[in-house]
Amino acid sequence: MRPALPPAAGPINRLIEEFAKLPGVGPKSAQRLAYYLLKAPAEQSKQLSDALLALKQEITLCSVCCNVTDTNPCAICANSERDHSRVCIVEQPQDILALEHTHAYKGLYHVLHGAISPTEGVGVNDIHLQELLDRLKDNQIAEVVLATNANLEGEQTALYLNRIITPLGIKVTRIARGLPFGTELEYADDVTLTRALEGRQVL
Ligand SMILES: [Zn+2]
Repeated sequence: MRPALPPAAGPINRLIEEFAKLPGVGPKSAQRLAYYLLKAPAEQSKQLSDALLALKQEITLCSVCCNVTDTNPCAICANSERDHSRVCIVEQPQDILALEHTHAYKGLYHVLHGAISPTEGVGVNDIHLQELLDRLKDNQIAEVVLATNANLEGEQTALYLNRIITPLGIKVTRIARGLPFGTELEYADDVTLTRALEGRQVL
């Protein structure tokens, strides 16, 4: 059953309902945000709605690394100063932000947009794996760094990738267990992530 809405006017309730659908936003926060916007200048609501629309209209996936981007290829793939012989595999685009924040890695990335999970019915065809295999075929890549999450799905995915990539003659490393098991990359602190990257090893 959905929680009862406060006795507010229709448009206010509508916005409260939308905010409450967002992760980490409870009914109280949703209400606070809606009433905040009601009081704020109209320009602020316009900027917010423009930003929301642009998110869906202007963001696509990079045709090389599957990162979310508004240019194609994305800024990382297009950067000739980066090490194009290394590809770091992550589950989600926000994992790239976490790794970039460490300044410990200068190679390229590949975003799977998920992890293999037999229990949840996510197979190899449900993540962006084929794009990765196509990339590895052109012989430019010397090392693949597996930076999937340190949980069951992430480990399963890393093992699977190791099994199919190693026979291609490419060095496969896994970021070290500096990350506690069960940690999602996006929530790891810089020091832990940097250590994990520096301590990566052949699987
Ligand atoms: Zn890219």
